[in-house]
Amino acid sequence: MNIHEYQGKAVLREFGVPVAYGLPALSVEEAVAAAKKLGGPVWVVKAQIHAGGRGKAGGVKVVKSVEDVEKEAKRLLGSTLVTHQTGPAGKEVNRLYVEEGSAIDKEFYLSMLVDRETSRIAFVVSTEGGMNIEEVAHDTPEKIVTFSVDPATGIMPHHGRRVAQALKLEGDLAKQAEHMAAKLYAAFTATDMSLLEINPLVVTKDSKLICLDAKVGFDSNSLYRHPKIVELRDLTEEDPKEIEASKYDLSYIALDGSIGCMVNGAGLAMATMDIIKLYGEAPANFLDVGGGATTEKVTAAFKIITSDPNVKGILVNIFGGIMKCDVIANGVVTAVKEVGLKVPLVVRLEGTNVEQGKKIINESGLNVVSADDLDDAAQKIVKALRGGK
Ligand code: GDP
Ligand code: MN
Repeated sequence: MNIHEYQGKAVLREFGVPVAYGLPALSVEEAVAAAKKLGGPVWVVKAQIHAGGRGKAGGVKVVKSVEDVEKEAKRLLGSTLVTHQTGPAGKEVNRLYVEEGSAIDKEFYLSMLVDRETSRIAFVVSTEGGMNIEEVAHDTPEKIVTFSVDPATGIMPHHGRRVAQALKLEGDLAKQAEHMAAKLYAAFTATDMSLLEINPLVVTKDSKLICLDAKVGFDSNSLYRHPKIVELRDLTEEDPKEIEASKYDLSYIALDGSIGCMVNGAGLAMATMDIIKLYGEAPANFLDVGGGATTEKVTAAFKIITSDPNVKGILVNIFGGIMKCDVIANGVVTAVKEVGLKVPLVVRLEGTNVEQGKKIINESGLNVVSADDLDDAAQKIVKALRGGK
């Protein structure tokens, strides 16, 4: 689960991490009131959307009067911001963050993530901040320093010194970096973050190290123990299909291809997506209905897939182990009866109760193409999508 920059900064502040002071605003009036409360003389008006690259897209403005705060708030609220992370459709701006302006001396990059290779929390630090870190990684990888923290010891002073060293900081600023590293680590572990990206981390003209941006993501599996964090969820930032899927405990991720997939098991779902690509089309989603799905759950999954206008064909690929083929078949038939079927549907069933499953589909009168194996299924759906050619 991701949260907005202003929420991320509030979480960091609770752990004593230095961030600039600011106030969120949902309207122009609130933005003006926030600006007056902050007092100036410099303010930054920042669009709050769950995507980076706002600066380049005009979503971050440094201004020097309350009138200009008002002007920028009017311009941004309700507008659609298209950044390199939003996709071409962009994201509508419904919230702003008005922050006291900082005089920047240097911009750095610092992120923390759960590194699967080492099974530890890793720090990624670079002197090249404020810009696209992917570009830095590509062009000058030597400017990125990465190390991980042993969970048995937790964060140690030498980790902090490595951060300071990587940023080429000395004296008091090095001390600030060391303290910050420890506090960031505390915030990360205490709230079960999965990602924390500070870009830029800045040194101000008066030699203070502060977080000027914050991108924070939490491990969804641990949200049950962080009710306060769950309250920060902004559903308008999420795909409605993913929200619906989460109600049924389905692992669903919307993608931008044209073939809707209903599969059981994450591995089989990945393989199904791969083979669709192999035959020249792209999946519209990742969907793992799980092992013990009920007819109700399968029906919900099928409805989510068919509600996506990008879906031009559906591939159901089930290997029944714990999941029974007849349950899947019943779910598909129920859903089609409720919402209709306007696109070709290919079903491949294998495993437990496969004969019953096939019988249910065959006797349903639905226009379903059955397939024998994964390869056959992928070829058939791609062919059907292309009008049988
Ligand atoms: P992003 O583009 O979505 O990553 O948004 P950021 O919060 O990182 O802001 C983009 C850029 O705006 C930063 O890299 C800074 O250069 C600039 N910026 C943000 N806040 C301030 C500020 O308080 N003062 C100044 N001078 N520049 C700022
Ligand atoms: Mn940024």
